[in-house]
Amino acid sequence: NLSEKLDKALHVLKGHGQITEINVAETLKEVRRALLDADVNFKIAKEFTNKVKEKAMGQDVLTSLQPGQLMVKLVKDELTELMGGDAEGINLSGAPSIILMSGLQGSGKTTFSGKLANYLKTKKTKKPLLVACDVYRPAAIDQLHVVGEQIGVEVFSDRGNNDPVAISKAGIAHAKANGFNVVIIDTAGRLAVDEQMMKEIANIHKAIQPQETLFVVDSMTGQDAVNTAKSFNDILNFDGVILTKLDGDTRGGAAISIKSVVNKPIKFIGTGEKMDAIDVFYPSRMAERILGMGDVVSLVERAQEQFDEEEARKIQKKIAKNKFGFDDFLSQIQQIKKMGSLKDLMGMIPGAGKALKGLDIDDDAFKHIEAIIHSMTPDERSTPAKLNASRKKRIAKGSGTSIQEINQLLKQFDQMSKMMKMMQGGGGKKMMQMMGA
Ligand code: GDP
Ligand code: MG
Repeated sequence: NLSEKLDKALHVLKGHGQITEINVAETLKEVRRALLDADVNFKIAKEFTNKVKEKAMGQDVLTSLQPGQLMVKLVKDELTELMGGDAEGINLSGAPSIILMSGLQGSGKTTFSGKLANYLKTKKTKKPLLVACDVYRPAAIDQLHVVGEQIGVEVFSDRGNNDPVAISKAGIAHAKANGFNVVIIDTAGRLAVDEQMMKEIANIHKAIQPQETLFVVDSMTGQDAVNTAKSFNDILNFDGVILTKLDGDTRGGAAISIKSVVNKPIKFIGTGEKMDAIDVFYPSRMAERILGMGDVVSLVERAQEQFDEEEARKIQKKIAKNKFGFDDFLSQIQQIKKMGSLKDLMGMIPGAGKALKGLDIDDDAFKHIEAIIHSMTPDERSTPAKLNASRKKRIAKGSGTSIQEINQLLKQFDQMSKMMKMMQGGGGKKMMQMMGA
């Protein structure tokens, strides 16, 4: 993927105490190739590397103490700029504020409508209503109702009606009459841009005059995403982009290209199917993620929300004394389950993504992990180094697992301890501070 390729490209520089002009040019060529591979538009990629080169020359990269790092910083800053400035929120000024979703079928509109409603609901002053305007498939209406139930948000629908303009208007009237102050309109999409879909969304848009029109796009659709974004923008002049499915094989390219082609801010990202898998889009974090620096800041914020402060303080002491054991691991599992999947979290830590490749950590694995830990003696839990072959055999028997699984757990435990240590240094220090330690 892009971050690996950029990593490789920048590696040349990272290692060099001194770099030459030729080195810079070579590296930028690699950077450009990496961007192209990630579906960044050719023109944009070329402009990008030219700009970085200019800046590199201007900043005396060649004579600086750590030229590699300076280059990484330049590439990161430029990527950040390319994806937009500071994070922009959504306009909630209306009474009620009307938010219209647009995008192709399968892009994630219905899912994101739910996520956004859920996100707004946590702001105490917002009372969102979801409106089902995908009239072509009965299942689409059901889907929104399921989502609404999950998050405890009312869904307005009218199954007998096949006019999305009328339904959206009725939904807004319902909101006004019942004290809802945000109306999120979920619409129908098609598999590709076609005239009828465009006409329909344009009609809805015109009829309801939303404060905020959002274009939802699957980040895995690469270069196509850019063309789709352009078509929708030509018709709707939308206010922002929602980039979904960034939890998969992240193609940073979509973010970069869309922003440069339609010049609209990316406002949120979707990072999973669950209702809490939503994040505000921060260009600099995205740039870091693309560059493989990990997304420590996001991790910190998420951890901050979910971690029990008292627990965190205890754990921190143990890590400091190198006394972090399987009992703590067990209680961490509980916390982590609350925060999202282990894989997601690990992926946000610099370097950890690579270390974990090949290790299959799925959330179901927790069940086995818990069984294994329960079969350990207290002594073994606090000093995992004691786990020799015969002890492992006993534990495998007791927990109904295999030696292989135990070895895998030990590996995971090792990673976890490393992650804890990493969180103590650098960005983690901030996290611990925020957690009240
Ligand atoms: P719509 O046709 O635009 O309404 O798209 P849906 O909301 O129905 O989403 C299509 C599929 O993508 C569903 O299976 C969703 O669960 C899935 N999906 C949506 N957003 C995300 C995301 O951020 N990550 C992942 N992994 N899946 C997503
Ligand atoms: Mg839908």
